[in-house]
Amino acid sequence: MFKKILIANRGEIALRVIRACKEMGIKTVAIHSDVDRECIHVRNADESICVGPAASAESYRNIPSIISAAEISGADAIHPGYGFLAENTYFAEVCESCGIKFIGPSKEAIERMGDKIAARELMMKAGVPVVPGSDGPISLDDPDITKIAKKIGYPLIVKASAGGGGKGMRIVATEEALHNAIAMAQAEAKAAFGNEAVYMEKYIEEPRHIEFQILGDRKGKVVYLPERDCSIQRRHQKLVEESPSPFVDASLRRKMGRAARHAAEAVNYVTVGTVEFLVDKSGHFYFMEMNTRIQVEHPVTEVITGLDLVKEQIRLAAGERLTFDSSDIVIRGHAIECRVNAEDPAKDFMPCPGKIGTFLPPGGPGIRVESHLYSGYTIPSFYDSLIAKVIALGSNRSEAIARMARALDEMVIEGVQTTIPLHKKIMAHDYFHKGDVYTDFLPKHIFGGE
Ligand code: ADP
Repeated sequence: MFKKILIANRGEIALRVIRACKEMGIKTVAIHSDVDRECIHVRNADESICVGPAASAESYRNIPSIISAAEISGADAIHPGYGFLAENTYFAEVCESCGIKFIGPSKEAIERMGDKIAARELMMKAGVPVVPGSDGPISLDDPDITKIAKKIGYPLIVKASAGGGGKGMRIVATEEALHNAIAMAQAEAKAAFGNEAVYMEKYIEEPRHIEFQILGDRKGKVVYLPERDCSIQRRHQKLVEESPSPFVDASLRRKMGRAARHAAEAVNYVTVGTVEFLVDKSGHFYFMEMNTRIQVEHPVTEVITGLDLVKEQIRLAAGERLTFDSSDIVIRGHAIECRVNAEDPAKDFMPCPGKIGTFLPPGGPGIRVESHLYSGYTIPSFYDSLIAKVIALGSNRSEAIARMARALDEMVIEGVQTTIPLHKKIMAHDYFHKGDVYTDFLPKHIFGGE
C-alpha cells in the first residue's frame, strides 16, 4: 500500500481523498495555489506545498510544479480528484515515468475514452450500443455534410470529440441551422479544448442520463454498481443525482450494467470509472462517454451500497484485487445528491464568488455533507463554483426527498447566491416526486413555468 499520497486538487474532493487516506493510515500532501492557503484541505493534510499562483494553469494544472512537490515530499502516489489533471494522459505518463503511481486507469484507457469519436468506434466494436451518428469527425468542407445529417435525422446534436463540462455542443433542429451550428461548435471546442474535432449524433428527445459506476482490478475483473440517474441538469451539466433511478428495473439494470462492464473491459480498465448512457422513453440505451476518474456524484452510490469508493480506488491502484461481484451488492434505500453551487440560477447560473458570512451545514438522520466551506471563507473566482454536496439517504425515494427538503431548509450559506433555493423548488415539484425527470426538466418545469 502507498505510504504517502499527494492530492492534486482542491475543495471538497481534496478533503474527501484526505479523509479516505487518514482512515487507511496513509500520509497526505495537499497542494494549493497562493489564494488557497486558508483552504480546509490544506489544514487537514499532513503536509502542504504551494504550487503556484491562482490561475489553475499555473498551479493545479502545472505538471512540473506538482511533480516537484511530490518528489520533495516523497509521495509515492498522486490522486488527481476530478477536473484539473484527472483525465490528462500526459500527466498520467509523467507520473509513471517519475516512479509515482497515478491513482487512475492506464494512460491508454484515458486516451481511448477521452476522445469521444474514438470511444464511439471502440464501443461499437465491443457491441455496446451508441447513439446513431456520423462515422468519425465531420467537416464543413465535406460536400456530403447535409446528406449525412439528413440520414441521422433532425433534431441532431453536434458534439466536440474532446468535450467535457457540456461545452462544444449544439442542438440542430433544421438543415438551415446545420452549417452555423457546426462552425460554432468547432470554435467553442477549439477555444475550450484546443481541438476543433466535432461529430454529429441523433438528438435523443426527453432522454434520461443514466450512468454506471464500475470498478476494475489489474487481473481484469470488472464489476458494476447500481445506476445513478443524473437527468436533472443545467446547461448539460448535472445538478441533482440519485440512485437507484426511478426508471430502471432489475432487468434493465442488469442489461445496462453488463454493457458498462463490456465498455470498461474494452480498455482493460483499472480503478474506478463511470460509463454514461442516454436512455429513451422505451428503455433503449446508448453509450455516451466514459469518465475515467472518480465522479462528483460518487457519494450517492456509497450511501446505498455501503462501499467507500475512494478507498476502493486507492486499493485498486495499489494492485489489490476486487473482493466482491456485482451480484453481491444490495441496494439499501434510496439516495439523492444536490450540488450546491455558488451561482445565481436567475442569471443563467452565473458564478457568484465572494466571502461567506455564516455557514451552517445540515445534519440529522440520513444526511451527509461534503464541503470545504467554513464561516468567513472567501470563495475565489478562479475555480469551479461547486461549494457543497448534500446527500440524503432514505429507506425509500419519498423519504430521501423529504430528508433532502428538510436538510436544504436547515442549511445556511450567507454572503453569496447559491443553488439552494432552486433545489428546494425541485424537491417540491410534482414531476420530480413522480420520478418523471428528463434532461430538459429545468428549462421545462422550473424556468418554463409549467
Ligand atoms: P460532456 O462530456 O460535456 O459532459 P456528454 O456527452 O456527457 O458531454 O453529454 C452531457 C449531456 O448533454 C447529457 O447528459 C445530455 O443531457 C446531453 N446530450 C449529449 N448527447 C446527447 C444526445 N445525443 N441527445 C440528447 N442529449 C444529449
